[in-house]
Amino acid sequence: MIVDAHAHLDPRLLDLEPMLAKMDAAGVDRVALIPTINEPLPETPKTLLALTRHAMCHRPTRPLAHLVHRALMTRGGDLRLGGQIVRIHQQPDNEPVARAVAAHPDRFWGWIFLNPATDPQVLDTLERWRAVPGMIGIKLHPHWHDYRTEILAPVLARAQELGLPVLIHLGFGKRGDIRAMATDFPRLHIICAHAGFPLYGDLWRIATGHPRVHVDLSSPYIDEALARAAVRALGARRCIYGTDSPYGFEEPDHTYDYRHILGWIARMPLREDERDAIVGGNLRALLES
Ligand SMILES: [Zn+2]
Repeated sequence: MIVDAHAHLDPRLLDLEPMLAKMDAAGVDRVALIPTINEPLPETPKTLLALTRHAMCHRPTRPLAHLVHRALMTRGGDLRLGGQIVRIHQQPDNEPVARAVAAHPDRFWGWIFLNPATDPQVLDTLERWRAVPGMIGIKLHPHWHDYRTEILAPVLARAQELGLPVLIHLGFGKRGDIRAMATDFPRLHIICAHAGFPLYGDLWRIATGHPRVHVDLSSPYIDEALARAAVRALGARRCIYGTDSPYGFEEPDHTYDYRHILGWIARMPLREDERDAIVGGNLRALLES
């Protein structure tokens, strides 16, 4: 069974029906949807993406990537990209994802998007959405929502208590203190998006001491070589297939290419049981534990 653990629901780019058709064509059984956090992005030039990725991978140049990121953020918390302002939703709307899950309960799960920086009732928001069938865990984005991960403590404590996994897109420095989160909440399953962006190898080293820290293999924030390196460093049991659809890898008609990241995993030198674990088994095991 193939489960995409990380995809966004933005019907402006990919509506549910064409998405289901793409899933069927690529053999993807189920997708865990995340509410939209941003207005559609202008296309990021591939060389810029590759350069920042390279800068982040190496500790001495990571501060440069951090500076670039700060320069792209406006005071209001939006992004300045390609000469335009791209709005970041401070409170992503969970409702459309809940509706998609209700309409296709056998094909979709949902992540509950929370932002503790702008939601004083964040624990109530969690209670409201976790009551909806098919909502499997919590999505957090301290990178674009621009908060220090220490303010997540009440949310992470509650998630740990409930056995809900957390999918987190880490930020730089105090906005992505995975060591503190994993140490303070040792029973919490944490999935770090995009192979541990922006720490990558440093995160994999930290994660070796924390068995409940995982990574997903989604998005052009990584490439095939990085995905392989993550699996080599962490082992197949700690890596989870995801896409970041509808953003990133495209078919010639500019819609999302559901086969791209599956191709990376198919080409990895792995046993069949390890491949099965990455493409679905690990996420399901973690939801059942
Ligand atoms: Zn994403």
